[in-house]
Amino acid sequence: TQALFCWCRAGFEPELAAELSERAALAGHPGYARTERGSGYVEFHCEDAAALSRALPFANLIFARQKLLRLADLPGLDPRDRITPILAALDGLAATARAPSAFGELWLEYPDSDAGKPLAGLARAFGNALRPALRKANWLTRVDDPTRQRLHVVFLDGDHAVLATSHPRDSSPWPLGIPRLRMHADAPSRSALKLEEALLTLLDDEERGALVRDNMQAADLGAAPGGWTWVLVRNGMKVTSVDNGPLAQNLLDSGRVDHLRVDGFQWQPKRTLDWMVCDMVESPRKVADRMAVWFEQNWCRQAIFNLKLPMKKRWEETRICLEAFEHQAHRPMTIRARQLYHDREEITVFATATKR
Ligand code: SAM
Repeated sequence: TQALFCWCRAGFEPELAAELSERAALAGHPGYARTERGSGYVEFHCEDAAALSRALPFANLIFARQKLLRLADLPGLDPRDRITPILAALDGLAATARAPSAFGELWLEYPDSDAGKPLAGLARAFGNALRPALRKANWLTRVDDPTRQRLHVVFLDGDHAVLATSHPRDSSPWPLGIPRLRMHADAPSRSALKLEEALLTLLDDEERGALVRDNMQAADLGAAPGGWTWVLVRNGMKVTSVDNGPLAQNLLDSGRVDHLRVDGFQWQPKRTLDWMVCDMVESPRKVADRMAVWFEQNWCRQAIFNLKLPMKKRWEETRICLEAFEHQAHRPMTIRARQLYHDREEITVFATATKR
C-alpha cells in the first residue's frame, strides 16, 4: 500500500513522526507513523498518501531530509534475483494506474544509519544491474530526464526493498537528501557548511540570485570563529561579526569584516541590513524572541538563524518557537525551517517579511 516515506537524521524519528502526524491531521489526512528509533526514516500511513503528499510540500517539512511516496514494500527478496519482483511490482502498479508511464531517473538509496551504511555497496551494484532492465521494460526513459518523476529503490536490508517515487519539484535534489558539500581549506570552521547548505536548501535559485549579492550588508551574531561570516564574505557581503570570542585572522584581513566584542542579544544595527545570521548557543525561545525583535524593528530584510533544540519534546519546542517568532514579529512573515544534514541537535530557519 502507499505511504509517505521520509528520510531524517538518525535519532530524530520521533520528531519527524510527530511533525507528520500533526500536519497530516491538520491537512485532513489523519493517519499513523511507523518508525524505529535510530533507523533514519519514518513511514506515514493514511488512506490517501498521494493526496497527503500533495498537502505537505517538501519545502514546508522541518525534520524530513527527503519526502518520497512509497509505491510498494518488498520484504523477503531472493538475493539471487531481486529484479524480477521489482518489475512485477511495477507492472502491478501500472495495472492500477498508480505509476507514471516512465520514470526520468533511478535512485538507489539506503538509510543514513549504522544499519543502513553497509548497504551502500549493494545499492550501487544493484542500480547498475537494474537500470538496463528498467529501460528495456520502458519503466525508465532512455536517457536520464531530471524533469520527470524519479523511481527510488530503497534498501532497508539485503532482502528488503521499498519502491518509491518523488517529483523533482517537490523533493530534495540529493540522494538520501544529503548534499555533498566540500569543506573549503580557508573556512574557519565546519559550521560554514551549515550556512552554505541553508542558502542552497532554504532559498530557491531565483531567491538566491536576488537575495545573495555583492556588497550587501550583513550581521553575524555569535560569529566566532567565523565560518558563517566567511560564507557571507565569499558571497561578496560586508559583515559585522558579533562575538566575544576571536575571529579567524583571514577574515579580519579581508577588509570586509568588523569584529565587535559585544553581546549579540543587545547589539542593534544603525540602519536596516540586508541580512542577519545568528548561530548563538542559547535557549531556542530566547533566540526566537530576539530574532522577532529584529523583524519587528526592521533591522534586517532577511535572516538565517539556528535554534538549538533541547533533549526532550523537540517537535513541540520547534512549533512553539516558530509560532512565537512569527507572532512577535508583528508582520506577515515567510518562514522556512529545516533540520539540515549539517545540523546536529538543531534546526535552521530562513525568515523574511512577506512581500505584499
Ligand atoms: N557560526 C559560527 C561559525 O560558523 O564559526 C559558530 C558559532 S558557535 C556555534 C556559537 C558562538 O556564539 C560562540 O562563539 C559564542 O561565543 C557565541 N555566543 C553565545 N552567546 C553569545 C552572546 N550573548 N553574544 C554574542 N555571542 C554569543
